[in-house]
Amino acid sequence: MHRVAIIRGDGIGPEISEATVRVLGASGAKLTWVEVPMGQEGRRLFGSELPWSSLETVRRLGTALKAPLVAERCCGGVVVEAPGEVRRYPSVNNGLRRELGAYANVRPVRGFAGVSGRYQHLDLVLVREVTEDTYAGLERQPEQGRAEATKLITQEASRRIARFACEYAIRHGRRKITAVHKANVLHLTDGLFLESVRAVTAEYPSLVFQDRMVDATCYLLVRHPQDFDVLVLPNQYGDILSDLAAALVGSLGLAPGVNFGNGVAVFEAAHGAAPDIAGRGLANPVALILSGALLLEYLGEAEAAGRVRRAVAAVLAEGRFLTPDLGGRATTAELTQAICERMDSV
Ligand code: ATP
Repeated sequence: MHRVAIIRGDGIGPEISEATVRVLGASGAKLTWVEVPMGQEGRRLFGSELPWSSLETVRRLGTALKAPLVAERCCGGVVVEAPGEVRRYPSVNNGLRRELGAYANVRPVRGFAGVSGRYQHLDLVLVREVTEDTYAGLERQPEQGRAEATKLITQEASRRIARFACEYAIRHGRRKITAVHKANVLHLTDGLFLESVRAVTAEYPSLVFQDRMVDATCYLLVRHPQDFDVLVLPNQYGDILSDLAAALVGSLGLAPGVNFGNGVAVFEAAHGAAPDIAGRGLANPVALILSGALLLEYLGEAEAAGRVRRAVAAVLAEGRFLTPDLGGRATTAELTQAICERMDSV
């Protein structure tokens, strides 16, 4: 029996986390969920989006399934009241990752027959650094009509993410690492990132290394995405390019992810809380369900993970139960039910 934290999330979070719990339950893996209030639920119960007790529970359990939390849209950010210290973060997701020491956000992008068109065979992975860059929270307004953000890049964090990407590539039988940057303009910051990634990848002669400007990467990802394998990116480019890559295969609702730190893994969809469709049964639960499959694999339940993936692929290929983002009319519950029923025959 594995004990796993569950953060039900905001917006579409509760709907897709319920769907994921059902599918993982039907996979045969033995999981016990430990409810952890964060986001709006955390604020309601404990007066904070990131309650200290919730953070402690995730740290203790080491693994969590996290549905999306609403990103702050106003100034002030999110406050964490640690014993003897108050820390402030620009958003709840940003604060959660940094409080847990999760520095590597892995987002596999895979196409599916039936919904991904010409990109049904696409298979690439974005490895995004999530502790620094322009999302470090170093923004200020020195005077009216002027605002500044610091882009923080360190050799230590850049090397750490590069090593993570290389080790990930080797473990998963991948061959090529692409460092994404804009070092021809941001000479010092992106220059340091690029130089650090290049130095680390040189220690892995079995991997092919290349680097690409972020603007060229957008173009090339749309034109020839199959030329990419593992992309390693600073925080902000990783945020933006992972939405672009999800669109290639058909929907943000298909894109899973995980944040890794030392001794902690938080599995989450690449998309946000989608408040525009929340509570209407329109959400595609597949991204979080596939994040659940990654969680099963991480827990050593490879067979159950395979069953979940095959059931998802079969239902998408069949095309009878697609949510509106995929061009269908099925509800979240109908797609979930179809995946659960398919699990026995895959
Ligand atoms: P965040 O800043 O928190 O990442 P965001 O502002 O980028 O969030 P999302 O919440 O990811 O936005 O939503 C972007 C668009 O994609 C919205 O129109 C939303 O409805 C749609 N979307 C996102 N996730 C899903 C999903 N699982 N199923 C269907 N549509 C989705």
